[in-house]
Amino acid sequence: MDYRSVHRRSIEDRAGFWGEEAARIEWQTPFTEVLDYSRPPFARWFVGGTTNLCHNAIDRWLPTQADSRALVFVSTETNEERVYTFAELHREVQRMAAMMLALGVARGDRVLIYMPMIPEATFAMLACARIGAVHSVVFGGFASVSLASRIEDAAPKLVVSADGGSRGGKVVPYKPLLDEAIRLSAHKPARVLMVDRKLAAFEPVAGRDEDYAALRATHFDAQVPVTWLESNECSYILYTSGTTGKPKGVQRDVGGYAVALASSMKHIFRGSPGETYFCTSDIGWVVGHSYIVYGPLIGGMATILYEGTPVRPDAGILWRLVERYAVTVMFSAPTAIRVLKKQDPSWLSKYDVSSLKALFLAGEPLDEPTSKWIAESIGRPIVDNYWQTETGWPILTVAHGIEETPTKIGSPGLPMYGYDVRLLHEQTGEEVGANEKAVVAIVPPLPPGCMQTIWGDDKRFVSTYFDSIPGRQVYSTFDWGIRDEDGYYFILGRTDDVINVAGHRLGTREIEESISSHAAIAECAVVGVADALKGQVAVAFAVLKDPADAATPQQRLALEGAVMGVVDRQLGAVARPARVHFVNLLPKTRSGKVLRRSIQAVCEGRDPGDLTTIEDPGALEALKQTVRG
Ligand code: ATP
Ligand code: MG
Repeated sequence: MDYRSVHRRSIEDRAGFWGEEAARIEWQTPFTEVLDYSRPPFARWFVGGTTNLCHNAIDRWLPTQADSRALVFVSTETNEERVYTFAELHREVQRMAAMMLALGVARGDRVLIYMPMIPEATFAMLACARIGAVHSVVFGGFASVSLASRIEDAAPKLVVSADGGSRGGKVVPYKPLLDEAIRLSAHKPARVLMVDRKLAAFEPVAGRDEDYAALRATHFDAQVPVTWLESNECSYILYTSGTTGKPKGVQRDVGGYAVALASSMKHIFRGSPGETYFCTSDIGWVVGHSYIVYGPLIGGMATILYEGTPVRPDAGILWRLVERYAVTVMFSAPTAIRVLKKQDPSWLSKYDVSSLKALFLAGEPLDEPTSKWIAESIGRPIVDNYWQTETGWPILTVAHGIEETPTKIGSPGLPMYGYDVRLLHEQTGEEVGANEKAVVAIVPPLPPGCMQTIWGDDKRFVSTYFDSIPGRQVYSTFDWGIRDEDGYYFILGRTDDVINVAGHRLGTREIEESISSHAAIAECAVVGVADALKGQVAVAFAVLKDPADAATPQQRLALEGAVMGVVDRQLGAVARPARVHFVNLLPKTRSGKVLRRSIQAVCEGRDPGDLTTIEDPGALEALKQTVRG
């Protein structure tokens, strides 16, 4: 099939296209209208239809593959490996659902899930979906203040949590953080359900905290039928990563999301029932919601839930799992691949990964050297895909389930079906031509699966996303991009990351890409720093594959000159960074995104702002020392 004509049809005949895609999931009652767009920019998909995410993820597969693998739990932190079939998952989810009901959770109530990557977290998500409760998963690495703001915003009746997680072999206690967050929050959840992994001792709060194991025993034989929900009821709230500021509570529906995921499993990921999907993200992020939990299961696939890092016990662990479970679809992030780049490359050829149809990468720009390196190392196709928490599934990539359109290194690809993507001039709102930089925007209605609104704040939804481009109500991604003659998009960084050097507007991404092409560099970040003469100058921070390359001041100076030379040759002197600093770590969010805004603030001697989502505060502190020399 010709992809471009499929895409055209999805925009010109939305009802026809999505009406057909909707058949990929099971409906309890059919919808009466594919799309209600009577109140732009709010889109309501599959109006009147009733369905259920948990039914489509589990119950639906019981007649044909009850005894097939559904959930594979692997922890290299606690050395556990457990496999649940669809039938077993069905039982566990019903037990969890019965516990929630017993704790007073009703349809529409929020349940906040603050958990490590353990099966119970997945049971909790699916149990909420089953009974029509709204889950809000908060990444287990967040500390009290971030957690408190989310508890306050989502106002959950119940929190499901655990005594602790483990990272790189170190136990991270969760309970003290949770207790502190509840103390800080104006909203107090009535109940807390605690999974005790026996990692970190804790004191239950009498009358509030319940023990999961004890309650599970009481509800061991529970049968909880699914609650059929109207397609537009809320399934979950998920806060954005907070790379650029206060996280926004992205609200998602039921039917549209199920259809979008089922459709993407077929057209984009090419996964089939009975196969195994391995996504290395975390359930606290959108990638985890869509492609650890719901997408694979809705597609009848087994999913691997992995607690651990890519380098423990050794840098071969991810590929060992691919081999062991004959993974056909794998999803990871450039940041994980860059971690591997710093390790012995022989780990990548030790295992048989021929089962993989492709490795999908998303979350940050995929630079050319990293892309080539991983493609060569594992010998499997690499597919970049670009999207946001807001959209729930890819905006730009290649849909090889429809047509084997070529991939281009450095480009996530083409607009996905359903997305009317445009490049609009940020001041005039006019569409720009090929090879001109502009804001990546989407003409609404947004396709199924995308956010319905910001939780509890329709006004903020419209003003945040649909009011930034003059003259027209379009959705702004707040990313800067460019399209070539063949229609392939390239993401150049976030709109607030653009550098203006003596009147030249440069995407930080372009300079980063250029610097990364130097053989010694593992990864880098470029920010614009205020400069009296030029307006702004680019300042680069680079992490070396081997820190020994810049051990002495002489080496650093020589390498800095060499890196500048690369930028000069590739982009011109105008893009040359004023400084290239060598650091051990880049400050990143917990989801692996570089905190360019905070780096910029540090360079300009300003307050780095809200750092609640930072992975390692030490990285920013070290960077500050480096800048001050
Ligand atoms: P916040 O919106 O709170 O600042 P965030 O934007 O980091 O946080 P996410 O929704 O997790 O939260 O990230 C989406 C963003 O990640 C995109 O807008 C884009 O900037 C970046 N991104 C994701 N995938 C890619 C990709 N394949 N190539 C380039 N950039 C990407
Ligand atoms: Mg964002």
